[in-house]
Amino acid sequence: MIMERPPMRYLFTFPSWAGAVTLTVLGLCAVLIAAPLAAQGRGGAMEEVVLALAIPPASQQATPVPEEERDHWRRVTIRPGDTLYDLFQRLDLGPVQVQQVLSAGRSARRLARLTPGEELELRIDDSGRLMELIYYPDARRVLRLVREGRRFRAESGERPMDVWLGQASAVIENSLFEAARQAGLSDRLTMELAEIFGWDIDFALDIRKGDRFSVLYEEFYRDGERIGEGHIVAAEFVNQGKTFRAVRYTTPDGRTDYYTPEGRSVRRAFLRTPVQFTRISSRFGRRFHPLLNRMRVHKGVDYAAPRGTPVRAAGDGKVIFRGRKGGYGKVVIIQHGQRYSTLYAHLNGFARGIRTGKRVRQGQTIGYVGSTGLATGPHLHYEFRVNGVHRNPLTVRLPQAAPLKKAYRDDFQRSARGLLAQLELLTRPTVAANRF
Ligand SMILES: [Zn+2]
Repeated sequence: MIMERPPMRYLFTFPSWAGAVTLTVLGLCAVLIAAPLAAQGRGGAMEEVVLALAIPPASQQATPVPEEERDHWRRVTIRPGDTLYDLFQRLDLGPVQVQQVLSAGRSARRLARLTPGEELELRIDDSGRLMELIYYPDARRVLRLVREGRRFRAESGERPMDVWLGQASAVIENSLFEAARQAGLSDRLTMELAEIFGWDIDFALDIRKGDRFSVLYEEFYRDGERIGEGHIVAAEFVNQGKTFRAVRYTTPDGRTDYYTPEGRSVRRAFLRTPVQFTRISSRFGRRFHPLLNRMRVHKGVDYAAPRGTPVRAAGDGKVIFRGRKGGYGKVVIIQHGQRYSTLYAHLNGFARGIRTGKRVRQGQTIGYVGSTGLATGPHLHYEFRVNGVHRNPLTVRLPQAAPLKKAYRDDFQRSARGLLAQLELLTRPTVAANRF
């Protein structure tokens, strides 16, 4: 996942029970201020932490400039068939101003092809001169034109948005999804939660009644209206008594990922299972082979899955074999560094571009489940070798993905501190209250 870190405004809210621990909140405020987000505490049960905004929203331009006070803002919606000319005509703005707007630079040319439903915000002075125009090309960006004499100066930026931290917390009674829904977490964020901790917890097999989780996630608001949700920014999952925590962090060079509070990647160098399977049809070790009709050692794990299910590379590496190999049928073998190799057998076919010598990334589709070679039905036969020795893919210790670079550790700690403190408060309000 690679994303830019958008300039956004964080507003931390605390739930109603926070009233009972107001002192805690005030104490926590200090933690939040210590975080890299510039903090503006307002006291009470709600604290506000504001990040720099690229451009202030038009509706919130509070600077009392006398000339501007006589101007007025108009918000107009593009109708089907509307051009900028039509729209300006309706507002008595005239064709000269259309030209001035459209010649304000490359970014302003986008205004020549408006689509119905889009909105423009226009500041017009008493004499009917357009002074400022604001346009939102999409949900994330804003284009702003400001009059400078007979011309307009164009500036583009991130669309200002309030980002609140939503929170959800639950104890699992029956299923993760049921508990998450009851806690108000969307299915998409629940999937994200399972993905974040999927490296340590097998969500198909390991979840038990009494497991619990707490999640902080981005909620986007504009003009007080909820317009969407972003990603999980911090989470804790307690599985069979074992606690896992993760914080989302974007490195200064723009890579976003989840890390443990100590700055280790939550990822492993290998996926535990390289396919979405319906059941494990044969485990590693000695077994009776139904086709050969005798005992033999099974050197991998069989995952039953519908024919055509994508098979993914377990880790970054290089394809060292792609082709047919006796009882394996169609098979791919990947070498990962010096020590590790993985094998994927009985494939129905290979993914496009997969051939010997090709570099692959973790999670990349390399082929599809089938039953070529010696197989009773469609399944993936998966082998994991360490220094040439077959190991049980279900239990082998998977090496950690590369940790955070040393140069980023301090930045990570600063950015994680406030989030972890809030997660702590969400998870263990009483413990947190005692601490401050
Ligand atoms: Zn097998």
